[in-house]
Amino acid sequence: MEKSLVLLKPDAVDRGLIGEIITRFERAGLKIAGLKMVWPKKEHAAKHYTEDLAVRRGQAVRDLMIEMLTSGPIVAVALEGVEAVDQVRKMIGATEPKSAAPGTIRGDFAHVSFKHADAKKMGVYNLVHASGSPEEAVEEIKVWFSEDELHGHTPGYTKHTIAY
Ligand code: ADP
Repeated sequence: MEKSLVLLKPDAVDRGLIGEIITRFERAGLKIAGLKMVWPKKEHAAKHYTEDLAVRRGQAVRDLMIEMLTSGPIVAVALEGVEAVDQVRKMIGATEPKSAAPGTIRGDFAHVSFKHADAKKMGVYNLVHASGSPEEAVEEIKVWFSEDELHGHTPGYTKHTIAY
């Protein structure tokens, strides 16, 4: 059993896709352990998009992503399920919407390429963030949720999906 941290980024909220996206996770039987809307300040966003992103994608991308994440309210979701990190990554699709398969969240609701975003000097709007590893999930959940905002409930449907 694992938790994964998902953020519905400002483009998802602005486009009115909160319900559509969360529905997909519920439909797959993942449990919602935590859920909140936040309009993050720069320092908060920087705790999420850490130096590690600058190392992997470059400082310019990190700056753009911090700017993007602070541009409007976002929805943070802590999901729980069997190997939830991989499951959620599969459902959101590839980072670059152009490469994201149809049927995935990014493939169904976006289409732009890195090339286009880089030429425009903008971040790739790909609607969601999801943790890349179970270790990363533990750290990221702490950035967005306090202990008492995470719930150990057992919704009825989990009997047929997670079977704790
Ligand atoms: P993911 O969100 O799939 O885990 P990363 O952590 O590598 O991907 O990147 C964080 C976010 O930065 C991506 O979701 C995307 O919005 C943005 N991004 C990554 N690479 C680029 C790029 N070359 N140009 C613009 N934006 C980018």
